Amino acid sequence: ISVSSTSLHDDDGAFAGTVVSFSDITELMLALQAKDRFLASVSHEFRTPLTSILGYLDVALELEAELPEQARHYLRVARRNALRLERLVEDFLAINAGTFEVNPVRTDVGLILAEAAESALVRATRAGLRLVNRAPASLPAVVDPDRLGQVVDNLLSNAMKYNRPGGCITLDAALDGTTLRIEVEDTGIGIAPEEVQHVFDRFFRSASVRSTGVTGVGLGLLITRSIVGEHNGSISVTSELGEGTCFTILLPQG
Ligand code: ADP
Repeated sequence: ISVSSTSLHDDDGAFAGTVVSFSDITELMLALQAKDRFLASVSHEFRTPLTSILGYLDVALELEAELPEQARHYLRVARRNALRLERLVEDFLAINAGTFEVNPVRTDVGLILAEAAESALVRATRAGLRLVNRAPASLPAVVDPDRLGQVVDNLLSNAMKYNRPGGCITLDAALDGTTLRIEVEDTGIGIAPEEVQHVFDRFFRSASVRSTGVTGVGLGLLITRSIVGEHNGSISVTSELGEGTCFTILLPQG
């Protein structure tokens, strides 16, 4: 049973009462469990063919010198996407199994953010979006470099997917005392107030997104939150429908 309550006030602002609503969400829970089971078995099935695809792509790329430039480019794109799919599958299985881990080491977060911004820039420009990286070029901190790159890629990718032509995306980061703060802000489609608390739920996709036809499975932010959580950090979101969204990550240092 899901319970929600709303306070009512009269015209003078005086408290008039509370409406409490109870809804039976058994069906919803069963549907989510069915999706979980389905994706878990599909993920297992994906593993073997994906390993084979990646193996053949690696062998093909070893012949790089003999290949025309165009073919090399296509193979690299195919490999990058196969790796993304492999990561999604492995992360989903690890989160489900409770074995998801990160390895924080001393690293330069400024560099990680610059790389993420640079690879997003091509896509942003093609989509008619502006991407600004305000983070300092060098920002030493203790994080898992691969995993932080994945988090920022995810947030930048969403900021582009759920944007509008002419929109803007801003990446920022700073060390506030002993906390590393990273922000990804966009002037995109935004999220309705009643939906914003659900964006980290598995398989969640907002109503406005489902009607736009932009593809996704609703796992990116679940994985993002798991990575941040494994760093003992937090991720929060503020959003206004039709105005834009801002994700803030706080990672404790030392
Ligand atoms: P996916 O993008 O595959 O749907 P995510 O877990 O990354 O999955 O995001 C879940 C949902 O949260 C999205 O479908 C979308 O409704 C909402 N969302 C995430 N990021 C943004 C954003 N920057 N602007 C608007 N909505 C967003």
